[in-house]
Amino acid sequence: MKIIKTINEMRDFRRNNAGSVGFIPTMGYLHEGHVSLVKLARQENNYVVISIFVNPKQFGPHEDFAAYPRDTEKDITLLKNAGVNAVFLPEVEEMYPAGFETYVSLETLSKKLEGKSRPGHFTGVATIVSKLCNIIQPDRAYFGQKDAQQVVVMKKMVSDLQLPIKIVVGETKREKDGLAMSSRNVYLSEKERKEASVLFQSLQLANEMIQKRERNSEIIKKAMSSLINETSGTIDYISFANPKNLDEVQIIENEVLISLAVYFGKTRLIDNIVVHSV
Ligand code: AMP
Repeated sequence: MKIIKTINEMRDFRRNNAGSVGFIPTMGYLHEGHVSLVKLARQENNYVVISIFVNPKQFGPHEDFAAYPRDTEKDITLLKNAGVNAVFLPEVEEMYPAGFETYVSLETLSKKLEGKSRPGHFTGVATIVSKLCNIIQPDRAYFGQKDAQQVVVMKKMVSDLQLPIKIVVGETKREKDGLAMSSRNVYLSEKERKEASVLFQSLQLANEMIQKRERNSEIIKKAMSSLINETSGTIDYISFANPKNLDEVQIIENEVLISLAVYFGKTRLIDNIVVHSV
């Protein structure tokens, strides 16, 4: 496995390897969720490239950029075992040199859901992913359903900018109690960690209510909120949205993306499921 730290070296790797490339952008502190994307990419490509870059542009001024967990040595060991061909570890100074001023921004999709709570986040994500794709030139890029809005934003960006890249989505990997794996779970205290399974439990409750023919999202939201409010978690939002355009839906028809963000202390956790109502 090649460890690549500069843009020139990364471009050389791509030039010297003619087959198809699957690319997984990450912020490191890797877990089974990331590894599952590597496995998907290995099945479909000649080479697998993963980037580890904690992207300052996707964090708000009061968010956890400085504190974001980092353990590059451990990540590298994990990736060697997972069969990755190259790890790209660029420096912030090379990705965003002084005077940097060009951004990729989605007019409406980036302002919904997560974007409402995290202004500027998706401009940061879209900008870094397009830069990384320009450097790595992948055939396919892999994203987790865990970040449902990110998937929608990436598909739209690739389509609007006519990038020759296929977006592939991997399912959300969960701990035994249902908590979605996340690098941020490490912030949780023991008590919060136990309570955090309530995100998935509330999503399952929503699914059960829909299967029992409840169609009013407000009623389901109330039930989810009651469950979450039994813990120390504070709800940021619960959303029922059209999975394609992320518009909020009151009355559930066909497919609905149910997503939520909950704070445990300062730790903000997100999760989602897509439910088909018939
Ligand atoms: P991150 O390092 O958190 O930026 O995540 C990098 C990629 O891994 C993103 O496409 C995430 O959606 C994906 N990912 C993160 N957690 C999970 C998970 N639990 N299951 C599947 N994919 C995940």
